[in-house]
Amino acid sequence: MTTLNHPSGNAGCISQYDPQALPVSAAQAIVLQWVTPLAASERVPLREALARVLAEDVISPIDVPAHDNAAMDGYAFDGAALADGSGHLSLAVTGKAFAGHAYSGEVAAGACVRIMTGAPMPAGCDTVVPQEHVSAQGDIIAFEANIVRRGANARRKGEDLARGGVALAAGRVLRASDIGLLASLGLVEANVKQRLRVAYFSTGDELRLPGEPLEPGCIYDSNRYALGAMLQRLNVEAIDLGVVRDDPAALAATLKLAAETADVVLTSGGVSVGEADFTRTQLQTLGDVSFWGLAMRPGRPLAFGRIWSGGRPGAGRAALLFGLPGNPVATMVSFYQIVRPALMAMAGAQAQPVPLVPALSDQPIKKRAGRTEFQRGLARRDDSGQWRVAPTGSQSSGALSTMSEANCFIVLAHEAGDLDAGDAVDIMLFDGLV
Ligand code: AMP
Ligand code: MG
Repeated sequence: MTTLNHPSGNAGCISQYDPQALPVSAAQAIVLQWVTPLAASERVPLREALARVLAEDVISPIDVPAHDNAAMDGYAFDGAALADGSGHLSLAVTGKAFAGHAYSGEVAAGACVRIMTGAPMPAGCDTVVPQEHVSAQGDIIAFEANIVRRGANARRKGEDLARGGVALAAGRVLRASDIGLLASLGLVEANVKQRLRVAYFSTGDELRLPGEPLEPGCIYDSNRYALGAMLQRLNVEAIDLGVVRDDPAALAATLKLAAETADVVLTSGGVSVGEADFTRTQLQTLGDVSFWGLAMRPGRPLAFGRIWSGGRPGAGRAALLFGLPGNPVATMVSFYQIVRPALMAMAGAQAQPVPLVPALSDQPIKKRAGRTEFQRGLARRDDSGQWRVAPTGSQSSGALSTMSEANCFIVLAHEAGDLDAGDAVDIMLFDGLV
């Protein structure tokens, strides 16, 4: 039986798996067991807080709104006058209330105040009749009582957020609405987790930099650009360590430097079983390997473990290492499915899993049972509102154009076999609104 290294030494619970072909769900669970969320936090101005992770609960220091106020332009009055809600009402207008300019007088029975949206409700008033429902004659307004119910068109103090309540919970990845919400509480900064430092580099003698001439047998290094962009989306501090040649000594030196400077290290290429694939053996030398293969397509070779800047386990600083496959689509799929959840957890984020949307396949799909597949798909909603999806042409793990062409992954479960046209599948959409 194969056992997998585990930071707690408790390898037993994961020992039933082959470290060369771990089911995706098991790999995701193991990776999360190895993760320790960052402890350090810092205060940043609201304008720099977007996509940062809240380090502590934000307790509302005030009621929002701070006072009862009008939700419509109209006339505020005591809704008791509506009595049984029938008949014709006539009220005398005794003053005006604007947003930022309260009406401070008393509103007697039979009277009302002209009020604009957002203006504080005058004392004694709890209801607003919208202006389009009244007829005005000089300072007298009239309307049918059944037009409004008592309390209508008024927002209550604390209705949005009550003072002393948790406005946003620790672990929240701040969105645009959250930045606005923090501002609505009068706060000028947010206490957020420090950004995770992620070092990344490409490996391969064949790699050339964009802008350089392409010699025979060479290709441009695209993985470092895709990885850099995906890291940018996660708002981590990304440290680009360039391209490392297929040379064990150069690889070891860069891995040690990466562990010295970063919390997580991502490499691409050199993790399969070719004669120039050194990443996994270096991981074995410099630290602990957990697994080095997934029952996943694309993305079968993937080395995961921990490396130490001192060159052996326990020496110097430790960093998690993800040795991602070199094929560009496999690099991206591995990042989204395995690395991303780990980075979020390490950054202290309480992130919801990315939603899976049920869809019907437009075509038969070839699928081998015993591995999770992430095919690139084009999804659309048909006239009845049903999601339908078709795989993008080539499913080659080297064809990055399939990622650009696609708008979703078609997620084919570990145990699933071939699918017929019309069969149900899950899709994971690439783009969200916020
Ligand atoms: P490897 O696992 O190193 O054998 O890489 C697998 C395939 O991915 C090979 O065809 C490599 O040329 C290609 N590849 C590796 N690294 C990169 C990269 N940074 N950008 C584009 N393709 C790459
Ligand atoms: Mg290589």
